[in-house]
Amino acid sequence: MGILEVKGVGKRFGGLQALSDVNLSVAEHSVHAIIGPNGAGKSTLLNVFVGKLIPDTGSVMFNGQSVLGRKPHEINQMGISRVFQTPEIFGDLTVMENVMISCFAKRDGAFRLHAFRTVAHEADIVEHAEQVLEDVNMLDKRNMHAASMSRGDKRRLEMAMCLSQDPQLLLLDEPTAGMARADTNNTIALLKEINQKRDITMVIIEHDMHVVFSLADRITVLAQGTPLVEDTPERIKGHPKVKEAYLGE
Ligand code: ADP
Ligand code: MG
Repeated sequence: MGILEVKGVGKRFGGLQALSDVNLSVAEHSVHAIIGPNGAGKSTLLNVFVGKLIPDTGSVMFNGQSVLGRKPHEINQMGISRVFQTPEIFGDLTVMENVMISCFAKRDGAFRLHAFRTVAHEADIVEHAEQVLEDVNMLDKRNMHAASMSRGDKRRLEMAMCLSQDPQLLLLDEPTAGMARADTNNTIALLKEINQKRDITMVIIEHDMHVVFSLADRITVLAQGTPLVEDTPERIKGHPKVKEAYLGE
């Protein structure tokens, strides 16, 4: 049994069958990539995992418990965190404040700036936030204004915000989109480190094959809302169906 078990998931938007009969098993501690052409249904599937969308059919079990019908913050509290395509950080706050607000959100169930300010000096939150920043090598930037950082550092900060919630499963939707090569490589290294040191399972949606092949243990190819093939990176690279559907060969 995987940490995440998806069975027969289908989702329709009006006349469009965005997902149909999606089966997926994500092994604990692994990095599982989902690739596929634009419009294949990758983001829709991720939205189902985090409770933003309820599928028409099928089941999604995390650690043996259904996530369907639960609110996003409840799923977050179960141990699933998500990294967005565009970093979702508070630009006006410092790096440290961003991480603290995230620690607080897990406890309180919501990102509430006002409530956060009243607990911002609680010792356990400060300590935890400092530890996480140290883990991602950002402690020296703790007082920097989040908005003034490079894209790579913003991504690193967002990762720190996710890690501060001690997730068991991290979902990443194109984490290196729009990044320069150097930032992409830093992100790959950071994700590898997080996966290994912290033993966090990851599901990553990614267009950049360099990133996918550097990180993934397993790859599922999604095409027109349904899994086409699932295999190791080595075997996916040479798969004729994948070349045809995804690489356009
Ligand atoms: P991907 O992330 O693989 O590029 P998406 O999951 O975003 O694909 O989209 C899958 C299909 O579903 C696309 O055709 C998209 O236009 C459609 N779609 C996604 N979200 C919605 C929505 N909220 N309402 C209607 N159609 C949607
Ligand atoms: Mg998408």
